[in-house]
Amino acid sequence: MFYTVYMWFYYLIFIVLGLCAGSFINVLLYRLDREGGIVTDRSKCRNCATRLKWYDLIPVLSYIFLKARCRYCKKQISILYPIVELSTAAVFLLFFIFNYSLFATDYWLLTIGYWLLAISAFIALFFFDYLYMILPDKITLPMIVLVLVYDIAALRWEALNPILTGLTLAGLFAILHGVSKGNWMGFGDVKLILLIGLIFGFPVAPIIFIVSTWIASICGLTLILFRKATVKSALPFGTFLSAISVIFILFEHELSFLSKIF
Ligand SMILES: [Zn+2]
Repeated sequence: MFYTVYMWFYYLIFIVLGLCAGSFINVLLYRLDREGGIVTDRSKCRNCATRLKWYDLIPVLSYIFLKARCRYCKKQISILYPIVELSTAAVFLLFFIFNYSLFATDYWLLTIGYWLLAISAFIALFFFDYLYMILPDKITLPMIVLVLVYDIAALRWEALNPILTGLTLAGLFAILHGVSKGNWMGFGDVKLILLIGLIFGFPVAPIIFIVSTWIASICGLTLILFRKATVKSALPFGTFLSAISVIFILFEHELSFLSKIF
């Protein structure tokens, strides 16, 4: 029933939602990296501090029309902004294409909102860890509380599964963090894996951990091979965990065969 002309309407809605979410992630990336307050002030140019008008802040389009330069001081605008917006929009669109059966479920609005929020959080954490090697508490802690409430409010016995999985994995990470004195993983990773455990439960959360470890190792070895890194270089592990988590949200059905291995 969805394969009608209305399909394009839904595509458009998810692309626009994704662009807005990406735009908000940009605001977080801009604010939190300098430990400033959270989103209270309107966006200013990073260079000349001119307050930007609403038409300077339209996702992607403003960047194109302004030819990647500030309207007021002509300073180059980072390509990062449209990249974050476009990648978030692409992920939202893929989420719709591969999960539109969710529309047919009870509480579909709540369910879809929940997954879009989880995706946005993981994309934000992906860029934070990649760019600044941090996983801000201002993102992980509210998400942990929210997912806990969601798990418990679902009033299912299964709520016990994600809670136990999250605590077990977080315990394991905390031990690794303690033993290595923070060299193998930061404490931000402990909170991130708790969040992943609470969202996915067993067996998906451990699978996400294992796949992330493999891919991080392959990337690390490749970088060492091409002498872009040494054995002592730190890889942003949270970036890998976040990316694999998004992939498991998008392709939950397609990847469900992996769960049967356990
Ligand atoms: Zn400027």
